[in-house]
Amino acid sequence: MSPSPKTKVAPELEFGNAWEYAAAPESVKVEIADKYGMFINGAFVAPKSRRYMDSINPANEELLSKIAVANEDDVDRAVAAAKAAFPKWKKLKASERAKYLFRIARRLQERAREFSVLETLDGGKPIKESRDVDIPEAAKHFFYHAGWADKLDYAFPGRKGRPLGVCAQIIPWNFPLLMAAWKIAPALACGNTVVLKPAETTSLTALRLAEIFEEVGLPPGVVNIITGAGETGAALVAHKDVQKVAFTGSTPVGKAIAKQCAGSGKRLTLELGGKSPNIIFEDASLDQAVDGIVQGIFFNQGHVCCAGSRLFVQEGVMQEVLAKLEVRIQSLRVGDPMDKNTDLGAINSLGQLATIKRYIEAGDAEGATRHQSSAKLPKRGYYLPPTWFTGVQPSHTIAREEIFGPVLSVMSFRTPEEAISRANNTPYGLAAGIWTDKGSKIFDIASRLKAGVVWCNTYNRFDAASPFGGFKQSGFGREGGRQGLLSYLELV
Ligand code: ADP
Repeated sequence: MSPSPKTKVAPELEFGNAWEYAAAPESVKVEIADKYGMFINGAFVAPKSRRYMDSINPANEELLSKIAVANEDDVDRAVAAAKAAFPKWKKLKASERAKYLFRIARRLQERAREFSVLETLDGGKPIKESRDVDIPEAAKHFFYHAGWADKLDYAFPGRKGRPLGVCAQIIPWNFPLLMAAWKIAPALACGNTVVLKPAETTSLTALRLAEIFEEVGLPPGVVNIITGAGETGAALVAHKDVQKVAFTGSTPVGKAIAKQCAGSGKRLTLELGGKSPNIIFEDASLDQAVDGIVQGIFFNQGHVCCAGSRLFVQEGVMQEVLAKLEVRIQSLRVGDPMDKNTDLGAINSLGQLATIKRYIEAGDAEGATRHQSSAKLPKRGYYLPPTWFTGVQPSHTIAREEIFGPVLSVMSFRTPEEAISRANNTPYGLAAGIWTDKGSKIFDIASRLKAGVVWCNTYNRFDAASPFGGFKQSGFGREGGRQGLLSYLELV
């Protein structure tokens, strides 16, 4: 069986650099096979389980493909391949490892339009986000870590960094290819081998990345991609030959994985949920702040672990901020993710749509005031209008729990002290935003917010060189930057 058809892309649509494709129209046709196996030991293979699951386009509810569901035998086969590939990969000259990473990055750029379209079809995110953020950032992560591969001795002077072995990497559905890049690139740069499991609703770009591994001649077994849902993930975490588990996803699953790994000697990093505060002070540039707030919560339909889902506005500017917020939200275009003008695409799955609706109902039931954009939604597909609540109390469910959807809770504060205590009043600690004209205030407040990333007068800015990760129930370990390498090395 050969479940991976070679992708056909018209030659004139293949571009040599990442910037050119942005100007071209989104007319690229991407071929999707009826059925996908898994990528193990350098080849696409059918699952021993003989089971497949549906992959649905959330924008129109049509079946895109059938994806293999790996069972314990399949997991075992993938881990065995990664284990067998490890000794050679680890010993390969670091500059040679770097070359593979450079080639992957380059090939991703060249096939960027195809990957963007596939990401949007599979996950429902607006094409402008796949095109301008997800795919270029994924390529950047490979470039960035290619640069580290032969410089690890300089990253940790006086210490020697040794690779850990087989890394089990489990990723979520909100940034499928980008999360794969965040995980695979540092692991390979440090000399580890990988078994990656994408989320069940968004496996297609990870499987296509495997085509790139074939194209660049990555040695078989160095990266293996297995697909499936929670059971597959749990079997992977449990495998005795896995030395390191890297997980990004929900806090409940992260806790279950932490329990599973406890006492096993496996290294673990967790990047989990968030309920991030965005704080607007009276002295902020309000137009800029409102733009940042909107971007902070509605980017990728709010399917962002660091989404600025709790807005704190200083009382004196509350009315002005609310008025501007309403105008700005009403101007957002909601609908077909393949339309380049779309701001909010489809909710990733029917299950997630139901979850978000439950939170909205809880907001109503607990006495907050609901506001929604009057945007007309498509008849088919999983859509929600951008939603914001006023009159929210810190005790309300919508102010406490991660919704992972386009829902903003607006609250007020009087003094900076109150802003800080309210912002920190959460079990999470992933990100935060501050909007003010005063530099001294920025430094003071940023240092007192318990959050892995604090953005000032901006939001949702990422860079491969900048470490990302949380405190408290948002997890531990960092991804990106020099600190991110520590997750994949043993320092001796
Ligand atoms: P969400 O609830 O937002 O879908 P999850 O945390 O359930 O997020 O999913 C994130 C990733 O974790 C997915 O790849 C999913 O298949 C995987 N997963 C779910 N349950 C488990 C589990 N018990 N062990 C390992 N991986 C899991």
